[in-house]
Amino acid sequence: MHETSPVSLSRRAALGALGAAAALPLFGRAEAAAPITGIRAPDWYRLRIGEFEATVVQDGPLALGEPAGGFPQHPRDDLTSLLRSNFLPTNALTLDQNCLFLNTGRQLILFDSGVGVTRPFGLGTGLLLANMRAAGLQPEQVDAVVISHAHIDHCWGIIGADGKPNFPNAQIFISKADFDFWTAEDRQNAQGWLGDFVKGARRNLLPVRDRITFVEDGKEVVPGVIAVSAPGHTVGHTVYAIQSGKSRAMFIGDLAHHQVIMLRRPQIEFAFDTDPRLSAQSRLRVLRMLAQERMGIVAYHFPFPGVGHVAAEGEGFGWYPAPWGTDL
Ligand SMILES: [Zn+2]
Repeated sequence: MHETSPVSLSRRAALGALGAAAALPLFGRAEAAAPITGIRAPDWYRLRIGEFEATVVQDGPLALGEPAGGFPQHPRDDLTSLLRSNFLPTNALTLDQNCLFLNTGRQLILFDSGVGVTRPFGLGTGLLLANMRAAGLQPEQVDAVVISHAHIDHCWGIIGADGKPNFPNAQIFISKADFDFWTAEDRQNAQGWLGDFVKGARRNLLPVRDRITFVEDGKEVVPGVIAVSAPGHTVGHTVYAIQSGKSRAMFIGDLAHHQVIMLRRPQIEFAFDTDPRLSAQSRLRVLRMLAQERMGIVAYHFPFPGVGHVAAEGEGFGWYPAPWGTDL
């Protein structure tokens, strides 16, 4: 009976196939089988937002480790079940870094700049410059670098390894609250990551101080882009509304870091939040508006390219990635 069980049959068939494959070079034409290319899919993605040409360029995925480390106040069981039910690893949290280039026809604007030369969250990061060139964009062409907040993965790509600006012709835009908080001299000796973040922000923002313009809530940053204050994750965290013709979209920075955990549990406290409660309030307010207005989103940390929509569902939100090749 054992000999005829389905398991035995399929195993025997598999072994037989292996034997045939091994014999192929002797008796068959080896070139009949296509070699495995090993070529990665491009780390950039192009779409239109109205008349604007948008290009999402990966800086590389951040390996944050144990999910509970990011959300120490939240029941671990709930994190595990959220991840598991969405077919995501339950023992390792990974966040993509989707830097957005926007060519308005008048200017080339970059939203957030990746981790730059520092790679504490994995060696596969800091790829913005290489990947933007692969997408046909040159650093010298960038007119404006618009920053959501002064954390490592958003503003440390402003200055290169040589201490010079990576985008030599760009003006820098950031909120005054974030600039002041993260470049404060007395804060750089703070314990742990806070001190390190301040040192890195100073390295990236102080050399370009004379090129910085402070953004203000509700005010135009450059034609077609409006700053929307969404504080909490940092004191001056800002998201950016993009408008071209009838198309409207939002670059949401770190309004939500994860497409499941922080949308399904929008009140959750994230370990790197300066003010977790205020962060949750901002998240709810802006996500509700985005859902209600059916506005397109480019999400910095959602799975690449992070382009899609949110819908209000239950006590949270659902994430609906835009089909490949569609515009916003
Ligand atoms: Zn971030």
